[in-house]
Amino acid sequence: MLNTNSEYLKPEIMDVIRAFGCEDKDFGHYFSFGSGKFFNAVECDGEFYDFENECEVEGDLEFKRLAKRFAKLAFYNVLSKRYGRLPWGALTGIRPTKLAYAEISAGRDFKNLFKQMDVSEANTLLVEKTIAAQKGIYDKGGGQDLFISIPFCPTKCEYCSFITAPITATKKYVDEYIDCLIGEIRSVKPLVKKLNSVYIGGGTPFVIEAVQLEKIYKAVAETFPSIPEYTVEAGRPDVFSEEKLMLSKEYGVTRICVNPQSLNDKTLAAIGRKHTAEQFFKAYKTAEKYGFDINVDLIAGLAEEGVKDFEYSLDEVTFLNPANITVHTLSLKSGAKLKENVKRLNVSGIANMVNLSRDKLEAAGYSPYYMYRQKYQAGGLENVGWCKGGKPCVYNINVMEEISDNIAVGANAISKKLFGDENRIERLASPKDIPTYISKVAQIIADREKLFALM
Ligand code: SF4
Repeated sequence: MLNTNSEYLKPEIMDVIRAFGCEDKDFGHYFSFGSGKFFNAVECDGEFYDFENECEVEGDLEFKRLAKRFAKLAFYNVLSKRYGRLPWGALTGIRPTKLAYAEISAGRDFKNLFKQMDVSEANTLLVEKTIAAQKGIYDKGGGQDLFISIPFCPTKCEYCSFITAPITATKKYVDEYIDCLIGEIRSVKPLVKKLNSVYIGGGTPFVIEAVQLEKIYKAVAETFPSIPEYTVEAGRPDVFSEEKLMLSKEYGVTRICVNPQSLNDKTLAAIGRKHTAEQFFKAYKTAEKYGFDINVDLIAGLAEEGVKDFEYSLDEVTFLNPANITVHTLSLKSGAKLKENVKRLNVSGIANMVNLSRDKLEAAGYSPYYMYRQKYQAGGLENVGWCKGGKPCVYNINVMEEISDNIAVGANAISKKLFGDENRIERLASPKDIPTYISKVAQIIADREKLFALM
């Protein structure tokens, strides 16, 4: 338990405590500020530690930001002395690159801040390379990206916290759901001034029938005749078909995600994927035939996998030479079956897998182009998207760096409107549950029009 005299600092401090797995311990904290100095006193196991940081402060917002930073750092210093350093040091936010960009735009070298927060050299370099790969996309920013949510899957994977149910249970909603989606897609046309990309994501978009998929493609094509980047997160290989790929090509899709997560059949069975590695290779080869840019997702830390198992999947995928490979680190999120079965993950093994992926992918000519961390992610590690041949996914960069509006349609979709001058973002979330979404779609459309009318 944490006792502090500054409640507004509590969530940030708790993030650090959780990163060390110390949420069951008792801590005391006293914060004060005077003469440009931030004071943090920490009590842990009956011992007391004092920290003092001096910094120029301009305005209330800046004061709060710095107060949070130094409070986190104080706890990080206490805990890292006992339990060892963390790869991201005292940084607990999910977007390290965003923090780096904020420093750069303030005319500072972000590496100084990262050093102060004890971020490892390897991670500082990862951020530097990611920023370099975003050149030409980040600087443009602005405009809108359209996200279309297909929250249906063949079966539920063990590690997944997404609100999805096997299509066998939700099939009865699909047609009505698609009608609502089409209504939403048409409704957003006036809100889009400059379309950067369209992303049909899931769930598993290819789980719906080809004829249903075509209805969505048609609505998108009629509403937006020219789409610079068009991704379909087709998903699991067991739902791929020549017909769906052909349709995708016909309607201008440029990028397809074929996501096995692992190429070990034992692991795939253990996580409830109900497809084999062989099905992945078949789906990949068919997609390749149509000339799509392909992304392949892998997860480090699945089931009983050791470094060798992960390395096997990584090598096989790298050999295929896709434009993008995304390496995720397993998260124990509530809502996932895995969380009930596993209390602690093999963090050091997963860190080794992540390090291995960095070495091998760079050696194979890939560059990191976007990255993010999630709460409850193994070892506070990260997810990294890698690209080759100058083909980063613009949608992923725009979303992760929050540099364009995101117009998101469908259940469990969150639209985001940027108010750049005020340095704030407003969000509009649709219901997660499909029948509720269907019953409220008219209201969702009206609310979004209101939000974006302020453009
Ligand atoms: S991980 Fe993907 S495919 Fe598996 S249940 Fe979740 S959304 Fe569906």
